[in-house]
Amino acid sequence: MAATAHTASGERRVREDRWRNSLILVVTRRCDLRCAYCPTVKDDEPDLTADDARRAMALFVERHGGGDCKLFGGEPLLTPDVVRAVIDAAPPGVSVYVSTNGTHLDAAWVEYLRAHRSVTLTLSLDGAARDHDGLRRGAATYAAIVAKLPALLSLPRFVVTQTIAPSTAVRAAENFRHLRSLGITRFNLLPGYYLPWTPSQLHALREAFAEIATEFETAWTRGERLYLRNLFVRAPTPFYNTGFVVDSDRRIYANNLVLAGKLDHFRRELAVGTLDAPPTDAQLADAAARTPDVLHEALGGTLLDATAAADAELTTLCDRLYPAFFAMRARRGAA
Ligand code: SF4
Repeated sequence: MAATAHTASGERRVREDRWRNSLILVVTRRCDLRCAYCPTVKDDEPDLTADDARRAMALFVERHGGGDCKLFGGEPLLTPDVVRAVIDAAPPGVSVYVSTNGTHLDAAWVEYLRAHRSVTLTLSLDGAARDHDGLRRGAATYAAIVAKLPALLSLPRFVVTQTIAPSTAVRAAENFRHLRSLGITRFNLLPGYYLPWTPSQLHALREAFAEIATEFETAWTRGERLYLRNLFVRAPTPFYNTGFVVDSDRRIYANNLVLAGKLDHFRRELAVGTLDAPPTDAQLADAAARTPDVLHEALGGTLLDATAAADAELTTLCDRLYPAFFAMRARRGAA
């Protein structure tokens, strides 16, 4: 999403460089769910090995010194050895983020993550059961995940991603309040991208974000803890992550949009190397610059316009919240 941050003094500070120092590891494309909004090609794909994941980490650290390492899938916890290998191999300057659908989180994972305090766990939980399970095409994971929440909420770095599909935009604020009622205080909001949003669905998204913004402003005024990761992240391509991307088949890309089925036949064209023959920084930058053209060719203007419109609503939400966020920070600093 294309958010910019404003400091308390009004100076515009753009958080746009963080993605350049990102290592994205697609440790597996496999997943036990089939979410309605998920574009990822999952079947008949290899997993990254622990050795290859460590090799990618070494390469990344050698080039950048440090930064963010994000583990994506598919469902990363289907390859527990690889996830642990990455976390164990990460030097102090590398922050590791693990995204999960939560189905494989158990007490052992919670204890492991508690012992690795710098790791951020991001859980997909889209709201109340009706929409969370509905978006998973009936796979009823809501109840099992909610049962795990008390343990997960005790982790030092735990964030919930609430994905908002076009079909659930009308209940997005209600779902947000439901998640808050479960004790969740750290959020990442994600409109479904590269989906055909209708004007009325975009209107519902706008209304929902306005309600959610009021929730944040009210909470901050009251001195309550409420965190929105979107305020701190900017990516040049909505939804997908740009950086040093290593796919589960060891190919290297400048962006993980290659995960999407609609981009699948562009894989050869988009790849800029492998773990055995990694690209130069210039090759990666060149590939990143070509991303908009490839997206346009693959998806066409209508889907891109819908994506841009949904992303613009998220940017509007962030821009509305920055003044309240910095005012809250200033109050806390003065206290
Ligand atoms: S969104 Fe995540 S959990 Fe859902 S099908 Fe895709 S990879 Fe699996």
